[in-house]
Amino acid sequence: MDTERFRKLLLDERARVSATIEHLHESNSVSLEEETEEETYDNHLADSATATLNREIDYTLEESSENLLGSVNSALERIDAGTYGTCERCGRQIAEERLEAIPYATRCIDCQRLAERA
Ligand SMILES: [Zn+2]
Repeated sequence: MDTERFRKLLLDERARVSATIEHLHESNSVSLEEETEEETYDNHLADSATATLNREIDYTLEESSENLLGSVNSALERIDAGTYGTCERCGRQIAEERLEAIPYATRCIDCQRLAERA
């Protein structure tokens, strides 16, 4: 298998996810400032509830982005270790088209389906 091709996919993905996380950090700090300003003008409960909700969505997104980043990094480690593309559950080769779609996949499609059904 051409792991260098997947290394490139993973590095692209890592750059993309890092940019998302960075953007989320920025938008979180901006919305906090805006909110404080708003509260000095008037105290709309509905507005601040919306702001809080938006911030929670951002945090959830940030958390899943960080999880994704972790998956991408461990896939890169598996490339270096020479274990990339092997299913962690059954030890068989993960189909290349699956890795093309999800380069950080740790399980073959059969094991993934089993895990999702459980
Ligand atoms: Zn498997």
